[in-house]
Amino acid sequence: MLTGRVSVSGRVATTEKTIPRAHWKRPSRDRVQRIRQKLADTYGLPHMPPHRRPLDELILTVLSQSTNDRNRDVAYLRLRERLPTWELVRDVPNAEVEEAIRPGGISKVKSKRIQQILTALTEHPREGHEADPFDLSWMEEASLQESRDFLCALPGVGRKTTACVLLFSYGIQDVPVDTHVGRVGTRLGLLRPGAGAEEQHDEMCELMPDGSALEFHVNLLRHGRRICDAQRPKCDQCVLARMCPARKEFQ
Ligand code: SF4
Repeated sequence: MLTGRVSVSGRVATTEKTIPRAHWKRPSRDRVQRIRQKLADTYGLPHMPPHRRPLDELILTVLSQSTNDRNRDVAYLRLRERLPTWELVRDVPNAEVEEAIRPGGISKVKSKRIQQILTALTEHPREGHEADPFDLSWMEEASLQESRDFLCALPGVGRKTTACVLLFSYGIQDVPVDTHVGRVGTRLGLLRPGAGAEEQHDEMCELMPDGSALEFHVNLLRHGRRICDAQRPKCDQCVLARMCPARKEFQ
């Protein structure tokens, strides 16, 4: 089941303070491991087996922009019900796609983006995959860099969406850094304050222990939603308070 998973938020967090790259020191492996363990003790380990449906995941991620999980899922299911093949979604008048995904919000923008992506896949398939350009199953065996480059070349697709597709479809170790993950990671000193989306994704992949991409992503996201709120973080209830350099800013 593709729908029902915890969605990622579209905006990457920024902080007021910026630390120049030259003054930034990556956290030690030991520190990262301690944070990981605390989060796992608190939220458990996520169980989300790879579903092997990369194009579905890509479209679902487009639909998740600026809405909640429920509305995203309703929009996705309506789209699949009304237009059961991706060829149909690509070829029908835009108004039909827009109407189908209306419950997901900003449907004008999202419907155009979805059709642009499907058209781009058709016009620029991976070499050797011209017969079925919507079959992205080659990504399971391709290098992370090749799949990332391919997806990032699609209209409106960036590192966060790419990481969602690779991680949730195939368990490929790429960490989606959404607004929650970016904010919590920055407050905990895992990410450089002021880092852009590209750097945040690179850093997150660099510092996570092998095989922990899903756990890292889901537990930082849960912590951001439940405790480390953007405006009013509940530092007095936070299991990471003793190792958080940002705590003093909020107390
Ligand atoms: S101590 Fe406060 S700022 Fe730091 S991670 Fe916990 S809730 Fe967030």
